[in-house]
Amino acid sequence: MSGRDEEFAEICEGVRALCEKFPGEYWRELDRERAYPTAFVKSLTEAGYLAALIPEQYGGSGLPMRAAAAIMEEIHASGCNGAACHAQMYTMGTILRHGSEAQKKKYLPAIAEGKQRLQAFGVTEPTSGTDTLSLRTTAKRDGNDGYIVNGQKIWTSRAEHSDLMLLLARTTPKDEAKKRTEGLSVFILNMREGGELTKGLTIKPIRTMMNHATTEVFFDNVRVPAENLIGEEGQGFRYILGGMNAERILIGSECIGDAKWFIEKATSYAKERALFGRPIGQNQGVQFPIARCYMQMRAAELMVHEAARLYEAGGDFGAQANMAKQLAAEASWAAADMCVQTHGGFGFAEEYDIERKFRETRLYTVAPISTNLVLSYLAEHVLGLPRSY
Ligand SMILES: Cc1cc2nc3c(=O)[nH]c(=O)nc-3n(C[C@H](O)[C@H](O)[C@H](O)COP(=O)(O)OP(=O)(O)OC[C@H]3O[C@@H](n4cnc5c(N)ncnc54)[C@H](O)[C@@H]3O)c2cc1C
Repeated sequence: MSGRDEEFAEICEGVRALCEKFPGEYWRELDRERAYPTAFVKSLTEAGYLAALIPEQYGGSGLPMRAAAAIMEEIHASGCNGAACHAQMYTMGTILRHGSEAQKKKYLPAIAEGKQRLQAFGVTEPTSGTDTLSLRTTAKRDGNDGYIVNGQKIWTSRAEHSDLMLLLARTTPKDEAKKRTEGLSVFILNMREGGELTKGLTIKPIRTMMNHATTEVFFDNVRVPAENLIGEEGQGFRYILGGMNAERILIGSECIGDAKWFIEKATSYAKERALFGRPIGQNQGVQFPIARCYMQMRAAELMVHEAARLYEAGGDFGAQANMAKQLAAEASWAAADMCVQTHGGFGFAEEYDIERKFRETRLYTVAPISTNLVLSYLAEHVLGLPRSY
């Protein structure tokens, strides 16, 4: 479907060919069992797609953000789901931008090769939710060479399928921090030291509306070596925000892929399904919702491309990253709803994959950031309205 960045056409062809090996039946079976798509993630890793953003000097392909976005879009437009592995692409950015040279050399080549999986991003907590600065998980200095972590995270996706977690924890009590945004630190937590789950760490899966491999993680005196602290102690919130903008662009791309998949499905079906002696797609009542979704998707796609371009250029692109994610999530959700409506009763049948994709794409106006928080960001930071929270 048009709108694709032709510069990355070859990469997209490769992704599409890989995705063809993982058809609807594969995803349907996993969905029923709430099982992780291990074979799919392995294929993507081996083909190097998940290392797209890792620079060549650390074993990755050093591609620009627009290429990474094209990969995620193509995965979703092919009917597959990148949520099982997308964190591997962007979470490493925090190490790349703020880690020491020793950390980069230790982790990035191993991640690029697939020897170590960095799929888990531990930010959200049950009591603080979106209010990240109120998180309660603490990391206290243990002499000079380590930290002891206590607390709980929720919605830590893929923790069961990851070796490493990028963990945000409080190292200075909130009322003692010099600035509101200081006092949090980022750590690389090796969850499987020697293959075993690290002592004091408990991971509990949460069964959700869609197959998402998300979990709760409990920390009971979990030890993290001081060398695993990224950057400066107390600056973690700032480091994490940078990574979140990359996440928003990539998830926006996934939503564009989903929207294209729904629009393509609806269009084909509207051409084939004949009632009252003509294809249902000949009725404007059926055509117009599809055309409207196409228009909405193309507008959102422009914002995703704009955010990816600004990411590559550097500078402040927070507003564009937020708008890209929000507009794309709204476009995919509108297309999902339209696709069910176009298919009538068949939209609800598992074998059409529409109801599965419908459940999967619903997530993105809530996570990784919910609609209201995007709107309040724009109100405050772009429009200069008073801070509302
Ligand atoms: C399947 C899934 C996977 C996830 N994966 C991860 C992950 O890997 N790592 C991770 O750290 N997190 C993850 N998350 C968490 C996700 O980022 C949060 O769910 C999301 O940011 C919303 O936070 P919350 O659920 O705590 O909602 P809350 O913060 O409790 O908000 C509830 C509602 O209130 C609204 N609201 C809150 N404050 C305001 C305000 N001031 N003004 C107006 N409205 C407001 C919100 O917009 C929302 O609609 C995941 C979540 C899900 C469901």
